Amino acid sequence: MNANLRLLTLAGALCVGLFTVPAADKQDPKATPKGGRLLEKTAPHAEFVVEKDRSVTIHFYNEDMKPVPATTQNVTVIAAPASGKATLQFEKKGDSLVSRTKLPEGEGYNVVVQFRQTADAKPRNLRFKLETHTCAECQRAEYACICDH
Ligand SMILES: [Zn+2]
Repeated sequence: MNANLRLLTLAGALCVGLFTVPAADKQDPKATPKGGRLLEKTAPHAEFVVEKDRSVTIHFYNEDMKPVPATTQNVTVIAAPASGKATLQFEKKGDSLVSRTKLPEGEGYNVVVQFRQTADAKPRNLRFKLETHTCAECQRAEYACICDH
């Protein structure tokens, strides 16, 4: 092994050491179990999932990303494609909230998730672009991508 190679190996080992997360660490909540988008600053963590039929499901998880049932949360989604706005209302189904209607066709349009922790709490608006194609890096739908790009 020449000096350069040894240096490279050392650098590689350092990198691995820096970027390997110990198994005991909590799972990154951004990597939601159902491949959806983590709605920031929700507790319990709320995950926004676009189903194959374009309905939306909101799942909830505790700090360890173990599923917990929906309780008092109230969600409305406003989709704003060029064809006109659509508002999706949700109802409780099992442990999750499920939209009564579907997202409009197409993608690349803006959606706003109005999230209320309780029915009469002030809503928080979470805006993002609905991109349903798969991210080549993390293999998740682009709206739920966990790469930092
Ligand atoms: Zn990605």
